[in-house]
Amino acid sequence: MRQPPAAASGAHRGLVCRLRATCAGQIRTGSGDVRICPAERPRARDDVRMTTTLTLAAMPSIQAVRTTGIYCRADCSARPHARNVTPYASSVAAEAAGYRPCLRCRPDRLPPHVEADTEALVGRALLLIADGVLDETSEDGLAARLGITARHLRRLFNERVGATPVFVARSRRAHFARRLLDETDLRMVDVALTSGFNSVRQMNREMLAVFHFTPTELRARRRAADRLVADGGIRLRVPFVGRLAFNDLLGYFRSRAIPGVEAVGDGVYRRTITVCGEPGVIEVSRAADGQHLLVVAHLPTLGAMIDDIARVRRLFGLDRPSAEETPLARDPLLAPLVQARPGLRVPGAWDPFETAVRVLLGQQVSVAGATTLAGRLVEALGTPVGDR
Ligand SMILES: [Zn+2]
Repeated sequence: MRQPPAAASGAHRGLVCRLRATCAGQIRTGSGDVRICPAERPRARDDVRMTTTLTLAAMPSIQAVRTTGIYCRADCSARPHARNVTPYASSVAAEAAGYRPCLRCRPDRLPPHVEADTEALVGRALLLIADGVLDETSEDGLAARLGITARHLRRLFNERVGATPVFVARSRRAHFARRLLDETDLRMVDVALTSGFNSVRQMNREMLAVFHFTPTELRARRRAADRLVADGGIRLRVPFVGRLAFNDLLGYFRSRAIPGVEAVGDGVYRRTITVCGEPGVIEVSRAADGQHLLVVAHLPTLGAMIDDIARVRRLFGLDRPSAEETPLARDPLLAPLVQARPGLRVPGAWDPFETAVRVLLGQQVSVAGATTLAGRLVEALGTPVGDR
Protein backbone atom coordinates (compact mmCIF):
# COMPACT_ATOMS: atom_id res chain seq x y z
CA MET A 1 0.00 0.00 0.00
CA ARG A 2 1.40 3.34 -0.96
CA GLN A 3 -1.04 5.80 0.52
CA PRO A 4 -0.63 7.95 3.62
CA PRO A 5 -2.80 6.84 6.51
CA ALA A 6 -6.49 7.53 6.36
CA ALA A 7 -6.92 8.32 10.03
CA ALA A 8 -5.05 9.41 13.11
CA SER A 9 -4.35 5.89 14.19
CA GLY A 10 -1.19 4.17 15.21
CA ALA A 11 -0.50 2.29 12.00
CA HIS A 12 0.89 4.39 9.19
CA ARG A 13 1.98 3.06 5.89
CA GLY A 14 3.04 5.13 2.96
CA LEU A 15 6.09 6.76 1.53
CA VAL A 16 8.15 9.63 2.73
CA CYS A 17 9.21 11.95 0.00
CA ARG A 18 12.97 11.90 -0.19
CA LEU A 19 13.18 14.44 -2.94
CA ARG A 20 14.74 16.87 -0.54
CA ALA A 21 18.31 16.62 0.61
CA THR A 22 18.77 13.65 2.84
CA CYS A 23 19.76 14.61 6.32
CA ALA A 24 20.40 11.49 8.37
CA GLY A 25 23.23 11.83 10.80
CA GLN A 26 23.28 15.57 10.96
CA ILE A 27 21.47 16.00 14.24
CA ARG A 28 23.35 18.29 16.56
CA THR A 29 23.44 16.67 19.95
CA GLY A 30 26.00 18.70 21.88
CA SER A 31 25.02 19.35 25.50
CA GLY A 32 21.81 17.37 25.12
CA ASP A 33 20.55 19.98 22.70
CA VAL A 34 17.99 18.24 20.52
CA ARG A 35 17.62 20.29 17.41
CA ILE A 36 16.28 19.76 13.97
CA CYS A 37 19.21 19.26 11.67
CA PRO A 38 19.96 22.14 9.28
CA ALA A 39 19.18 20.12 6.15
CA GLU A 40 15.60 19.65 7.29
CA ARG A 41 14.89 23.23 8.19
CA PRO A 42 12.68 25.19 5.87
CA ARG A 43 15.15 27.37 4.03
CA ALA A 44 13.56 30.73 4.04
CA ARG A 45 16.06 32.08 1.59
CA ASP A 46 14.61 29.66 -0.93
CA ASP A 47 11.23 31.23 -0.57
CA VAL A 48 10.33 33.91 -3.00
CA ARG A 49 7.90 35.84 -0.93
CA MET A 50 5.66 38.80 -1.43
CA THR A 51 7.07 40.90 1.33
CA THR A 52 4.83 43.90 1.13
CA THR A 53 1.50 42.11 1.31
CA LEU A 54 1.54 40.55 4.72
CA THR A 55 -1.50 40.25 6.92
CA LEU A 56 -3.47 43.46 6.62
CA ALA A 57 -6.44 45.18 8.18
CA ALA A 58 -8.88 44.21 10.89
CA MET A 59 -6.17 43.43 13.42
CA PRO A 60 -7.15 43.45 17.05
CA SER A 61 -4.78 45.89 18.73
CA ILE A 62 -3.01 45.38 22.01
CA GLN A 63 -3.61 47.58 25.03
CA ALA A 64 -1.15 47.64 27.89
CA VAL A 65 -2.22 48.91 31.30
CA ARG A 66 0.54 50.78 33.11
CA THR A 67 -0.90 50.35 36.59
CA THR A 68 -1.17 46.56 36.40
CA GLY A 69 1.70 45.71 34.05
CA ILE A 70 -0.68 43.56 32.01
CA TYR A 71 -1.53 43.76 28.32
CA CYS A 72 -4.93 42.85 26.86
CA ARG A 73 -6.83 42.48 23.63
CA ALA A 74 -8.78 45.60 22.76
CA ASP A 75 -12.02 43.72 23.46
CA CYS A 76 -11.03 42.38 26.89
CA SER A 77 -13.76 42.52 29.53
CA ALA A 78 -11.34 44.28 31.90
CA ARG A 79 -11.97 48.02 31.45
CA PRO A 80 -8.96 50.02 32.60
CA HIS A 81 -8.95 53.80 32.85
CA ALA A 82 -8.05 55.28 29.46
CA ARG A 83 -5.24 57.39 30.90
CA ASN A 84 -3.45 54.24 32.08
CA VAL A 85 -3.59 52.51 28.71
CA THR A 86 -0.78 52.38 26.15
CA PRO A 87 -1.58 50.84 22.76
CA TYR A 88 0.93 48.50 21.12
CA ALA A 89 1.01 47.15 17.60
CA SER A 90 1.77 43.60 18.71
CA SER A 91 2.03 41.39 21.75
CA VAL A 92 5.77 41.11 21.29
CA ALA A 93 6.12 44.92 21.54
CA ALA A 94 4.11 44.94 24.76
CA GLU A 95 6.25 42.14 26.15
CA ALA A 96 9.44 43.92 25.16
CA ALA A 97 8.14 46.88 27.17
CA GLY A 98 7.80 44.59 30.20
CA TYR A 99 4.08 43.78 30.17
CA ARG A 100 2.72 40.27 30.65
CA PRO A 101 -0.33 38.89 28.80
CA CYS A 102 -3.72 39.00 30.53
CA LEU A 103 -4.90 35.63 31.83
CA ARG A 104 -8.51 36.45 31.00
CA CYS A 105 -8.45 37.52 27.33
CA ARG A 106 -5.21 35.68 26.43
CA PRO A 107 -3.82 38.24 23.96
CA ASP A 108 -0.83 35.94 23.50
CA ARG A 109 -3.15 33.65 21.55
CA LEU A 110 -3.52 36.19 18.77
CA PRO A 111 -1.66 35.02 15.69
CA PRO A 112 1.59 36.70 14.74
CA HIS A 113 0.87 39.86 12.90
CA VAL A 114 2.74 42.23 10.65
CA GLU A 115 1.34 45.71 10.10
CA ALA A 116 0.29 46.52 6.55
CA ASP A 117 2.68 49.42 6.28
CA THR A 118 5.60 47.50 7.70
CA GLU A 119 8.72 48.12 5.74
CA ALA A 120 9.35 45.24 3.34
CA LEU A 121 12.71 44.47 4.96
CA VAL A 122 11.16 44.19 8.42
CA GLY A 123 8.36 42.03 7.05
CA ARG A 124 10.90 39.72 5.45
CA ALA A 125 12.94 39.59 8.65
CA LEU A 126 9.84 38.71 10.70
CA LEU A 127 8.97 35.86 8.34
CA LEU A 128 12.55 34.58 8.52
CA ILE A 129 12.41 34.69 12.32
CA ALA A 130 9.09 32.86 12.24
CA ASP A 131 10.86 30.19 10.20
CA GLY A 132 13.45 29.85 12.96
CA VAL A 133 16.38 31.60 11.29
CA LEU A 134 17.64 32.98 14.60
CA ASP A 135 17.96 29.43 15.95
CA GLU A 136 20.70 28.98 13.37
CA THR A 137 22.33 32.34 13.09
CA SER A 138 22.79 35.59 15.00
CA GLU A 139 21.26 38.99 14.39
CA ASP A 140 24.39 39.76 12.37
CA GLY A 141 23.72 36.72 10.18
CA LEU A 142 20.10 37.71 9.69
CA ALA A 143 21.12 41.25 8.76
CA ALA A 144 23.72 39.95 6.29
CA ARG A 145 21.06 37.78 4.68
CA LEU A 146 18.92 40.88 4.21
CA GLY A 147 21.86 42.87 2.89
CA ILE A 148 21.94 45.43 5.68
CA THR A 149 24.02 46.00 8.81
CA ALA A 150 22.93 44.55 12.14
CA ARG A 151 22.73 48.06 13.55
CA HIS A 152 20.34 49.14 10.82
CA LEU A 153 18.26 45.98 11.36
CA ARG A 154 17.95 46.64 15.10
CA ARG A 155 17.03 50.26 14.47
CA LEU A 156 14.30 49.25 11.99
CA PHE A 157 12.95 46.69 14.47
CA ASN A 158 12.89 49.16 17.33
CA GLU A 159 10.97 51.63 15.18
CA ARG A 160 8.54 49.23 13.50
CA VAL A 161 8.15 46.28 15.84
CA GLY A 162 9.05 47.71 19.21
CA ALA A 163 11.41 44.83 20.02
CA THR A 164 14.76 43.51 18.82
CA PRO A 165 14.94 40.54 16.43
CA VAL A 166 16.37 38.37 19.20
CA PHE A 167 13.47 39.29 21.49
CA VAL A 168 10.99 38.37 18.75
CA ALA A 169 12.67 34.97 18.40
CA ARG A 170 12.61 34.43 22.18
CA SER A 171 8.96 35.38 22.27
CA ARG A 172 8.23 32.88 19.48
CA ARG A 173 9.67 30.05 21.57
CA ALA A 174 7.91 31.16 24.74
CA HIS A 175 4.54 31.43 23.02
CA PHE A 176 4.91 28.06 21.36
CA ALA A 177 5.77 26.52 24.73
CA ARG A 178 2.67 28.15 26.26
CA ARG A 179 0.54 26.57 23.56
CA LEU A 180 2.04 23.16 24.30
CA LEU A 181 1.44 23.67 28.03
CA ASP A 182 -2.20 24.57 27.36
CA GLU A 183 -3.09 22.04 24.73
CA THR A 184 -0.97 18.97 25.35
CA ASP A 185 0.04 16.77 28.26
CA LEU A 186 3.70 16.76 27.24
CA ARG A 187 6.18 16.61 30.11
CA MET A 188 8.04 19.83 30.94
CA VAL A 189 11.28 18.55 29.46
CA ASP A 190 9.52 17.72 26.19
CA VAL A 191 7.78 21.10 26.11
CA ALA A 192 11.17 22.78 26.54
CA LEU A 193 12.96 20.79 23.82
CA THR A 194 10.02 20.95 21.42
CA SER A 195 9.92 24.73 21.73
CA GLY A 196 13.61 25.08 20.99
CA PHE A 197 14.88 25.69 24.51
CA ASN A 198 18.09 23.98 25.52
CA SER A 199 16.82 22.99 28.94
CA VAL A 200 13.86 23.19 31.30
CA ARG A 201 15.83 25.75 33.26
CA GLN A 202 16.20 28.03 30.26
CA MET A 203 12.49 27.62 29.49
CA ASN A 204 11.56 28.50 33.07
CA ARG A 205 13.68 31.65 32.92
CA GLU A 206 12.28 32.85 29.59
CA MET A 207 8.66 31.97 30.40
CA LEU A 208 8.97 33.89 33.63
CA ALA A 209 10.31 36.88 31.68
CA VAL A 210 7.50 36.85 29.12
CA PHE A 211 4.49 35.62 31.10
CA HIS A 212 5.57 36.41 34.68
CA PHE A 213 4.57 32.87 35.64
CA THR A 214 6.54 29.61 35.60
CA PRO A 215 5.56 26.87 33.15
CA THR A 216 4.20 24.83 36.08
CA GLU A 217 1.97 27.71 37.16
CA LEU A 218 0.82 28.30 33.57
CA ARG A 219 -0.12 24.66 33.12
CA ALA A 220 -2.03 24.68 36.38
CA ARG A 221 -4.04 27.64 35.09
CA ARG A 222 -5.00 26.17 31.74
CA ARG A 223 -8.68 25.80 31.07
CA ALA A 224 -10.10 22.33 30.59
CA ALA A 225 -11.41 23.35 27.15
CA ASP A 226 -7.89 24.17 25.96
CA ARG A 227 -6.62 20.69 26.55
CA LEU A 228 -6.62 18.72 23.32
CA VAL A 229 -6.05 15.04 23.71
CA ALA A 230 -4.94 13.22 20.60
CA ASP A 231 -5.09 9.51 20.00
CA GLY A 232 -1.55 8.62 19.10
CA GLY A 233 -0.38 12.08 18.12
CA ILE A 234 -0.02 15.62 19.32
CA ARG A 235 -2.85 18.01 18.66
CA LEU A 236 -2.35 21.76 18.40
CA ARG A 237 -4.43 24.71 17.29
CA VAL A 238 -2.84 27.11 14.83
CA PRO A 239 -4.51 30.53 14.89
CA PHE A 240 -5.17 32.81 11.97
CA VAL A 241 -6.83 36.18 11.46
CA GLY A 242 -9.60 36.92 9.02
CA ARG A 243 -11.31 34.56 6.66
CA LEU A 244 -9.75 31.48 5.19
CA ALA A 245 -11.26 29.62 2.23
CA PHE A 246 -10.11 26.30 3.69
CA ASN A 247 -12.16 24.08 1.37
CA ASP A 248 -10.84 25.91 -1.69
CA LEU A 249 -7.29 25.35 -0.44
CA LEU A 250 -8.08 21.67 0.11
CA GLY A 251 -9.40 21.50 -3.45
CA TYR A 252 -6.13 22.99 -4.68
CA PHE A 253 -4.06 20.49 -2.68
CA ARG A 254 -6.31 17.58 -3.67
CA SER A 255 -5.70 18.03 -7.37
CA ARG A 256 -1.95 18.27 -6.74
CA ALA A 257 -1.53 15.62 -4.05
CA ILE A 258 1.59 13.53 -4.72
CA PRO A 259 0.51 9.88 -4.54
CA GLY A 260 2.16 8.18 -1.59
CA VAL A 261 3.05 11.48 0.08
CA GLU A 262 -0.11 13.56 0.31
CA ALA A 263 -3.81 12.80 0.57
CA VAL A 264 -6.86 15.02 0.93
CA GLY A 265 -10.23 13.77 2.11
CA ASP A 266 -12.99 14.31 4.67
CA GLY A 267 -11.90 17.91 5.18
CA VAL A 268 -8.37 16.87 6.13
CA TYR A 269 -5.02 17.40 4.43
CA ARG A 270 -2.50 14.67 5.29
CA ARG A 271 1.08 14.18 4.32
CA THR A 272 4.14 12.21 5.25
CA ILE A 273 7.15 14.23 6.33
CA THR A 274 10.70 13.46 7.30
CA VAL A 275 12.34 14.73 10.42
CA CYS A 276 16.06 14.09 10.27
CA GLY A 277 15.53 11.04 8.09
CA GLU A 278 12.75 9.62 10.27
CA PRO A 279 9.20 9.49 8.93
CA GLY A 280 6.26 11.30 10.42
CA VAL A 281 2.73 12.22 9.42
CA ILE A 282 0.93 15.52 9.77
CA GLU A 283 -2.81 16.14 9.44
CA VAL A 284 -4.46 19.53 9.07
CA SER A 285 -8.16 20.30 9.35
CA ARG A 286 -10.24 23.32 10.25
CA ALA A 287 -11.20 23.81 13.89
CA ALA A 288 -14.88 24.38 14.62
CA ASP A 289 -14.33 27.97 15.81
CA GLY A 290 -13.28 29.17 12.34
CA GLN A 291 -10.22 30.93 13.77
CA HIS A 292 -7.80 28.02 14.00
CA LEU A 293 -6.48 25.13 12.00
CA LEU A 294 -6.24 21.90 13.92
CA VAL A 295 -2.96 20.08 13.44
CA VAL A 296 -2.42 16.48 14.48
CA ALA A 297 1.23 15.56 14.30
CA HIS A 298 2.71 12.09 14.51
CA LEU A 299 6.40 12.82 14.75
CA PRO A 300 9.46 10.64 15.37
CA THR A 301 10.92 13.41 17.52
CA LEU A 302 9.38 16.55 18.89
CA GLY A 303 12.39 18.76 18.21
CA ALA A 304 11.11 19.90 14.81
CA MET A 305 7.54 20.59 15.75
CA ILE A 306 7.90 24.35 16.01
CA ASP A 307 9.22 24.33 12.43
CA ASP A 308 6.51 21.98 11.21
CA ILE A 309 3.86 24.34 12.57
CA ALA A 310 5.61 27.20 10.73
CA ARG A 311 5.37 25.10 7.56
CA VAL A 312 1.65 24.55 8.12
CA ARG A 313 1.21 28.33 8.44
CA ARG A 314 3.08 28.77 5.18
CA LEU A 315 1.28 25.96 3.35
CA PHE A 316 -2.16 27.39 4.12
CA GLY A 317 -1.11 31.01 3.58
CA LEU A 318 -2.02 31.96 7.16
CA ASP A 319 0.43 34.87 7.23
CA ARG A 320 -0.68 36.17 3.85
CA PRO A 321 -3.65 38.45 3.30
CA SER A 322 -6.83 36.99 1.86
CA ALA A 323 -7.82 38.30 -1.57
CA GLU A 324 -10.28 40.84 -0.16
CA GLU A 325 -7.42 42.50 1.75
CA THR A 326 -5.32 42.98 -1.37
CA PRO A 327 -5.56 45.52 -4.19
CA LEU A 328 -7.43 42.84 -6.18
CA ALA A 329 -10.53 43.73 -4.14
CA ARG A 330 -10.42 47.29 -5.49
CA ASP A 331 -10.09 46.32 -9.12
CA PRO A 332 -13.38 46.95 -10.94
CA LEU A 333 -13.14 43.71 -12.92
CA LEU A 334 -11.85 41.41 -10.19
CA ALA A 335 -13.70 42.80 -7.16
CA PRO A 336 -16.95 40.86 -7.79
CA LEU A 337 -14.98 37.61 -8.13
CA VAL A 338 -13.07 38.31 -4.92
CA GLN A 339 -16.33 39.02 -3.09
CA ALA A 340 -17.88 35.82 -4.37
CA ARG A 341 -15.18 33.67 -2.77
CA PRO A 342 -14.06 35.30 0.47
CA GLY A 343 -10.94 34.14 2.29
CA LEU A 344 -8.94 33.02 -0.74
CA ARG A 345 -5.22 33.05 0.03
CA VAL A 346 -2.16 32.09 -1.94
CA PRO A 347 -1.07 28.65 -0.75
CA GLY A 348 2.56 28.06 0.12
CA ALA A 349 4.73 24.99 -0.10
CA TRP A 350 5.80 22.44 2.47
CA ASP A 351 9.30 22.05 1.15
CA PRO A 352 11.17 24.29 -1.31
CA PHE A 353 13.11 21.47 -2.95
CA GLU A 354 9.99 19.36 -3.40
CA THR A 355 8.31 22.37 -4.98
CA ALA A 356 11.25 22.98 -7.32
CA VAL A 357 11.05 19.37 -8.52
CA ARG A 358 7.32 19.73 -9.07
CA VAL A 359 7.83 22.91 -11.07
CA LEU A 360 10.31 21.08 -13.30
CA LEU A 361 8.00 18.10 -13.73
CA GLY A 362 5.08 20.39 -14.48
CA GLN A 363 6.63 21.99 -17.53
CA GLN A 364 4.69 21.23 -20.70
CA VAL A 365 2.27 18.83 -18.99
CA SER A 366 -1.01 19.15 -17.12
CA VAL A 367 -1.30 19.33 -13.33
CA ALA A 368 -2.60 15.76 -13.32
CA GLY A 369 0.29 14.62 -15.53
CA ALA A 370 2.87 16.32 -13.31
CA THR A 371 1.31 14.80 -10.19
CA THR A 372 1.49 11.34 -11.72
CA LEU A 373 5.15 11.91 -12.57
CA ALA A 374 5.89 13.13 -9.05
CA GLY A 375 4.20 10.00 -7.66
CA ARG A 376 6.41 7.82 -9.86
CA LEU A 377 9.50 9.65 -8.66
CA VAL A 378 8.46 9.11 -5.06
CA GLU A 379 7.72 5.45 -5.77
CA ALA A 380 11.17 5.01 -7.29
CA LEU A 381 13.18 7.04 -4.78
CA GLY A 382 11.02 7.31 -1.68
CA THR A 383 11.44 5.39 1.52
CA PRO A 384 8.49 3.25 2.55
CA VAL A 385 7.02 4.20 5.89
CA GLY A 386 6.62 1.07 7.93
CA ASP A 387 4.05 0.31 10.61
CA ARG A 388 4.60 2.67 13.46
ZN1 LIG B 1 -7.46 41.04 29.20
